[in-house]
Amino acid sequence: MQKFSYHTHTNSFGVFDGHNSAEEMISAAESIGYTELGISNHLICKKECSSFSPQFFDNFQKAETVYLKNIEEIRSAAQKNKIKVYVGFEVDYFKSAEWRRCFEKLRSRLDVDYLIGSTHCLMNSDASWILNIYEMNRKPIIVDEETKREGIKNYWLNIIESIKSGYFDFIAHLDVIKIFGMGLEPEWDEYKWKVIEALTETKHPYELNTSGWTKAGEQHPHTWMLRELSNRNVPIVISDDAHSTSMLARNFSEAEKLLADLNYKSRWKLHK
Ligand SMILES: [Zn+2]
Ligand SMILES: [Zn+2]
Repeated sequence: MQKFSYHTHTNSFGVFDGHNSAEEMISAAESIGYTELGISNHLICKKECSSFSPQFFDNFQKAETVYLKNIEEIRSAAQKNKIKVYVGFEVDYFKSAEWRRCFEKLRSRLDVDYLIGSTHCLMNSDASWILNIYEMNRKPIIVDEETKREGIKNYWLNIIESIKSGYFDFIAHLDVIKIFGMGLEPEWDEYKWKVIEALTETKHPYELNTSGWTKAGEQHPHTWMLRELSNRNVPIVISDDAHSTSMLARNFSEAEKLLADLNYKSRWKLHK
């Protein structure tokens, strides 16, 4: 059984990210037998994507200060416990030149152990229109069918770009939009195949995210995608995406059973 997760959140930025402090998460991880813990709060270099959270990105200096404080909190909490603690971020990827400039500048200032690539937004082709899927759920936002379809198509394409960007150690929850019932129709299989192909070509690590069981009735990504990626030897890591201590290692035995049933051989882990 995998005894670690690199995809977890603390309350460093307020309850949007997590409900517990780094200290609470680390000692809880130690008490359930984790040998390592990676904490990966959200890093968003695009203000349109985060208007509902305190992580707005309209001031570089302010953002840098917030992220540096987060890193410092985790590293000092880590000194009080025995398990190995890694500091990372779950980064919302965008393909625009402006985003790259901001992200690369920020990355050069932050001393982290790893980065997770995520897509949480529907967007148009040049990402000038962005809609965070969680925001969609919080308040009724009227999106016409055509805009939504375009948004879902670009969601998949954005994941592919994030895989090819080379910025990330692994890619998060490939089909997270299904928690809001999106991207489930057979017409999207073509795009899911493109994601599989991109991961295969690059042999890029990705996660089996167990939060899907709670939110969508199955893990991320779909079992058929896991099967195809297993056949292609694409490295996988199990993540609990824990936003509180009680979510640490949630559904890990189901995840291990699923990977065993698929005879999944290529498992990924951080080597530092
Ligand atoms: Zn996420
Ligand atoms: Zn997360």
